[in-house]
Amino acid sequence: DRNQNFLRENNARYQFHPMIHPMLSQAHPPQIIVAGDGCRVTDIDGKTYIDGVGGLWNVNVGHNRPEVKQAIIAQMDQISYYSSFAGTATPPSIELSALVCGMADVEEADKIVFSANGSDAVETALKLARQYWRLAGEPGRYKFISLKNGYHGVHFGGVSVNGSPYYRGAYEPLLPGCTQIDTPWTYRNPYSQDPEELAQIIADLLDREIRHQGPQTVAAFIAEPVQGAGGVIVPPASFWPKLREVCDRYGVLLIADEVVTGFGRSGSMFGARGWGVKPDIMCLAKGISAGYVPLGATVLNRRVVSAWYQGITPEGFLMHGYTATGHPLACAAALAALDIVIREDLPGNAARQGTRLIEKLKPLADSSSIVGEVRGKGLMIGLDLVADKVSRASLDPSNGIAERVAAYARDEGAIVRPAGSTIILSPPLVINEAECDILASALTAAFARIEREL
Ligand code: PMP
Repeated sequence: DRNQNFLRENNARYQFHPMIHPMLSQAHPPQIIVAGDGCRVTDIDGKTYIDGVGGLWNVNVGHNRPEVKQAIIAQMDQISYYSSFAGTATPPSIELSALVCGMADVEEADKIVFSANGSDAVETALKLARQYWRLAGEPGRYKFISLKNGYHGVHFGGVSVNGSPYYRGAYEPLLPGCTQIDTPWTYRNPYSQDPEELAQIIADLLDREIRHQGPQTVAAFIAEPVQGAGGVIVPPASFWPKLREVCDRYGVLLIADEVVTGFGRSGSMFGARGWGVKPDIMCLAKGISAGYVPLGATVLNRRVVSAWYQGITPEGFLMHGYTATGHPLACAAALAALDIVIREDLPGNAARQGTRLIEKLKPLADSSSIVGEVRGKGLMIGLDLVADKVSRASLDPSNGIAERVAAYARDEGAIVRPAGSTIILSPPLVINEAECDILASALTAAFARIEREL
């Protein structure tokens, strides 16, 4: 019909899509998704798929949950928006601030700053870390250290601490004083194949980097508990406890970017909790509102917040906040989404289904000549595509094989995400065994087809 023709003709005409060259998106227009239900989505041609990417790591509770819809409508019946800048607040933001501070894993969670995206949550964390040191009487602490392969969003602060030069190149010069150390990546590193030895080596690298920069100049270290966009890289179990020790040795703040891992995705309520560690600052987004409405949040612990309570000075005002800070519809949606996460124990389901799905996919590392490793934690799963299994050299992303795997999986009824030389799976956390099996067989068939063509 007319509207469908309009959508097809204008798809990829005006939108400059994130992280894809406009000439490529015009040649291969995006698939138009028109409806969703639980772990399934339907495209404009009426074909239904298992959603293997869960939006973008975020639709934890599944698509079109009536509880979330009702919460948004009920709030719209009251008031859709009011600002947090006029000495005013709305009930959902107050309720959500108490709920998230009660759940969060920072030591004595004390304050939360709401925003609209993960990138905002990271920007807030970096700015507040600097402001903390200023208030604490050490304004010389302005530097940030992070991990190569890390991903922290698209604002200038986040881009400055992002690991891959790929995200930075076109936007330099960036924040001064940002450096990266190697990722504790068991599959690819020049140091050790032994996970615990590797964890110690990377912790020592951080210690060395802090001393090299001068501890009195370093504000914070930021990392994801499990790296997502960098290719689903799970650190050795002892790495985060060692990170905490090194940061404490020099008073450096530890920021956990839990934008992906927060609220169950890696099989525990928070990723840092999975490693038994409490960061000083947590960045949250995505799963907090399950993608229904954009929402970001940054949680600060008592140590950080105490710097603001030595008296009222001009430097202590939070000169940071967004029009959308505390947006009532977003906070109402988040309250309903988190209620589902807790009530249905979605972290537990993510752990169980994730383990099962990884077991089902592991045989691909033998049957396919291009799958080097199947890895993951909870429902963060990556299939590492290699040019050569012995050297573990990555498949050249520009040859488009990951995109072909994804296209073939789509033919088999599953949407998966090609990201460089990794195929990423991050389905809704409500996924059941039957749906995991469909996902696994779609991928198995897609790799078999690639194998015949290679
Ligand atoms: N941090 C991490 C760990 C992320 O994975 C992302 C987005 N994938 C961000 C920050 C940025 O979030 P957003 O896209 O909502 O700005």
